[in-house]
Amino acid sequence: MSGTGAAGRPRTERLRLAVERDGARCVWCGRAFTGLVVPTREHLVPRAKGGPSWLENEVPACGRCNGERGHRGVVDWLEECERRGWSPDVAAVERALASLETAIALRGGARRARGYVAAQRRRLARRA
Ligand SMILES: [Zn+2]
Repeated sequence: MSGTGAAGRPRTERLRLAVERDGARCVWCGRAFTGLVVPTREHLVPRAKGGPSWLENEVPACGRCNGERGHRGVVDWLEECERRGWSPDVAAVERALASLETAIALRGGARRARGYVAAQRRRLARRA
């Protein structure tokens, strides 16, 4: 995949690419996408916090997790998933945040998202 070509794609195509990249399961609860568990585009940096609608800011999540997380921070929600006994795909989340940071550096914009991404990446690094 070419790095910069991902911006501006239609949302259905971004969802397909996110599933291709991260796997056909919810990054939070790990449930496989089947008939009843439908993939949605989960914005790691919520749009309300300035998160762009780019592939780099989107991971596949089931509708339940997407709705329930709301605007909770990435690491807060990851840890909530772990408390519930789920196995969130931490590696996929880390990869997405790293590629989002790179995409913002290359394309500019998303000013409000920058501090958010940096803070979440620091918290993930401290957990490792
Ligand atoms: Zn889920």
